[in-house]
Amino acid sequence: MRCNRGSTARSAGVARGARAPHVRCLPVASVAPAAARSGASKRATWSAEPILVSGAGIAGLAVAVALSKIGLPVHVFEAGPGLRQEGAAIGLWANAWRALEALGAADGLRAGHLPLSRWVGYWACVALTPPADAAGRQRAALDVVRGWSWSMEEVIRRTPPEDIAWSRVSDRWTAGSFGRGCVTLAGDAAHPMTPNLGQGGCVALEDAVVLGQRLAALAAQRAPPSPSALAACLRAFEADRSARCLPLTVRSNLMGAALQTPLQPVCAVRNAFVRTVFQPSHFLDHTTFDCGTL
Ligand SMILES: Cc1cc2nc3c(=O)[nH]c(=O)nc-3n(C[C@H](O)[C@H](O)[C@H](O)COP(=O)(O)OP(=O)(O)OC[C@H]3O[C@@H](n4cnc5c(N)ncnc54)[C@H](O)[C@@H]3O)c2cc1C
Repeated sequence: MRCNRGSTARSAGVARGARAPHVRCLPVASVAPAAARSGASKRATWSAEPILVSGAGIAGLAVAVALSKIGLPVHVFEAGPGLRQEGAAIGLWANAWRALEALGAADGLRAGHLPLSRWVGYWACVALTPPADAAGRQRAALDVVRGWSWSMEEVIRRTPPEDIAWSRVSDRWTAGSFGRGCVTLAGDAAHPMTPNLGQGGCVALEDAVVLGQRLAALAAQRAPPSPSALAACLRAFEADRSARCLPLTVRSNLMGAALQTPLQPVCAVRNAFVRTVFQPSHFLDHTTFDCGTL
């Protein structure tokens, strides 16, 4: 799957009746309520004004789908001029596929995903300092894998330097609310995490489903909710998502720190732990999360 992917500063937010953001944004999509699009009887909805979604990354687009499924019209705005260079591939774990099922997008993605060919591969590694240019990126990657017993060095050496993308990585340990009034956040804007668990995009998809679930009761009312009722609903969503994502953010950060440490004694303990105690089932328990249906 190709997607707009970046490190952390990119945001996806949701606001009802808010003014257009100050950045130059292009409206990239208007999504009518799903029932209206399918011609089925329209679900009750209070929203005459569309919900505004800033950011057409994974989170923003998934939120647009979720809200349209519960009968709310959505406008999506994107500040970037097009696809960013980072992000040739993304790993989706079981929790993400459950969210995609809930959004009704899983089958399309399964049908559309392209296997890497016999001759094309994908590799990634983490360096502690940002290399300045393409050749510097290749040197930094080679330094990381130097002395490994398998052919990583050869693979990296044979990769044209201009094909090596680089992203800055950082995280934020979000606890409690992260929105205000009738505005909330989803995805990296809410809970950016390092890529060590491969979960940032997966939990962005969960966010969309949970936001849709939280707003569904309000969307089904005949009358528009009061701003305080809407705000309370968004704060409840944020509490849910903080409780789910904070442990993942911390775990991902610690895993990155353990993997990157240059201290030999720490490396020895880490390697012994992985060889003797570590079980993949412990490592993957967060992927059993089921965000439910919409
Ligand atoms: C190297 C790397 C590997 C990763 N691997 C995985 C993986 O295997 N599995 C996984 O699940 N996750 C992975 N992630 C994390 C995942 O890519 C992110 O968590 C995910 O892309 C976040 O999506 P998002 O929509 O929240 O943010 P973004 O993808 O950053 O999208 C936000 C969008 O909003 C736009 N924008 C910003 N400000 C505004 C504004 N004011 N108005 C309008 N538009 C705006 C931006 O241009 C951008 O398009 C990885 C990340 C990195 C860096």
